[in-house]
Amino acid sequence: MANPQRDNVAEVKAAVDIVDVAARYVDLKPAGGARFKALCPFHREKTPSFHVMRDRQIFHCFGCGKGGDVLTFVQEMEGIEFREALDQLAERAGVKLEYRSSGAAQQDNRQALFKATTFAATLYYRTLSGSSGAAARTYVDGRALRPETIKKFGMGYAPEGWQFLVDAARKEGIAETMLEAAGLAKRGQGGMYDRFRNRVMIPIRDVSGKVVAFGGRALDDDPAKYLNSAESPIYKKSRVLYGLYEAREALRETQEAILVEGYFDLMRCFDAGIENVVATCGTALTDEQAKTIRRYAANVLVVYDGDAAGIRAALRSVSILCAAGLTVRAMVLPDGLDPDDFIRRDGADAFRRRASEALGFVPFYVRMNEDRSGTIEGRTAIAGELFDVIRGLDDPLRQDEYLKLVASELGLDEYRCREAFRRATDEAQKSATMERFSAPTPVSVNTHDADFVGILMENAGWAEAVWKALSEYSVPTSPVIEVVRALAETPQGDLARGLEGEAARQLYSAAAAASRTWGDRAEALVRERVARFKREALLAEREQLDNAIRSAKRESNDARETELVLRKIVLNKQIEQLGAA
Ligand SMILES: [Zn+2]
Repeated sequence: MANPQRDNVAEVKAAVDIVDVAARYVDLKPAGGARFKALCPFHREKTPSFHVMRDRQIFHCFGCGKGGDVLTFVQEMEGIEFREALDQLAERAGVKLEYRSSGAAQQDNRQALFKATTFAATLYYRTLSGSSGAAARTYVDGRALRPETIKKFGMGYAPEGWQFLVDAARKEGIAETMLEAAGLAKRGQGGMYDRFRNRVMIPIRDVSGKVVAFGGRALDDDPAKYLNSAESPIYKKSRVLYGLYEAREALRETQEAILVEGYFDLMRCFDAGIENVVATCGTALTDEQAKTIRRYAANVLVVYDGDAAGIRAALRSVSILCAAGLTVRAMVLPDGLDPDDFIRRDGADAFRRRASEALGFVPFYVRMNEDRSGTIEGRTAIAGELFDVIRGLDDPLRQDEYLKLVASELGLDEYRCREAFRRATDEAQKSATMERFSAPTPVSVNTHDADFVGILMENAGWAEAVWKALSEYSVPTSPVIEVVRALAETPQGDLARGLEGEAARQLYSAAAAASRTWGDRAEALVRERVARFKREALLAEREQLDNAIRSAKRESNDARETELVLRKIVLNKQIEQLGAA
């Protein structure tokens, strides 16, 4: 059956050339034939290991392992979701998109995950106001947020007990595996059980407003005060910013994002009518999050909890934000208060006033380190720390501006300051090079797997044959199996789309980027590999049988034991035959 969405993806991909698209971001050099090379935009390097293949329309970096098709590339570069990347490319290529029909396995899977998270969010929300939510309501009331705010952010409650969500989802026809994949339930001895218990639940939404995960605040003295959903195909921690969906209009309007740490800091701001706020929620700020902010606003105001260690650590996020091209200001609230406490104590206007008076990050940092700035050694040290931030800016004009500021703030001679910066930068580059040589290579692609996949790609029909040969075996899933399946199911190529896992995508692009020829050896290699898959499947099956035999023995169930032992004999024979093959 025709699938408009998949056709659209194919149409968009046919209308653009990955080489043209990549050339807008990186400096591509021809590297023979349909191949181009550049310094990788995803990791720091000095010699190009980032490859773009025009014939296969994929990219792959042999340094950091990133790879995929043109849509993955745009997603990674811009830090955006698939849908946005598709929109962007379609617009450029003049392709009109038809929304929206599901069909591709991946899309179905994502839809099912969204269904599970949305169901959980609604259920938790209802429970908070229901009879079992009394204790949670007391806690939420203590937070003194307006009912509109609680509703806007969909705050809810996961009650005590092990099967509250699991049972409710079953009645709704939501598969247990989906709850598990969405990070809402875990599989234990006695079956599936709820991951979040006796917690106030805060839904985390993606840019389009769909619930992708939860933050759960413990109501008892659980050592984990906050518990977050595990990552899933719809939730990548390094990408999501809490509150972005709710804040995006205000971000565009004000062109400034106020960056806070916690869920309640953010909700408090909204509660008080300050809506250009996003939160990192306990994780260190990532490049991807910084790039996401940049899509909505040009400026960021970072609000720190005011201890000295926090301020030092915060310099890291300032570096990341500056490197993403954002203009950064920073502020600390008095008396060690976080935004939640401060606004409750002094009100929104006091917060707004402080925000409007916040300093640029250079004077801010100098001010915060006043105790050290009494001596020339101290001032040089502070300058050195700021150099680390300035070095990350790719715009020499901005670098220069900041260096001037560092000199004037610290009372250093401008020329000397520039010299010191140059020296420090040379040093840093030297040590970065050393690191590069000593660091283990981060690529995790197995070369045997890449060879195997490469052969299947070279030979039409082979992937289907392999997949068919493996169909009777319960081969454990792995990146290579995922790629084989995708190759078999989408023989004409739009494969990178069908791959769910990052590891599988990297394996695919590595195989596509490798330029090896196999000639006569190809068939033997594939046969060997298929035999190994079968063998692994049978060995896994035998292990299960052994377990079952042991428990039959324990229960003195002779009939069952005999049956299982007979099955094992057959299995052993199959394994033996494969070994000989
Ligand atoms: Zn790379």
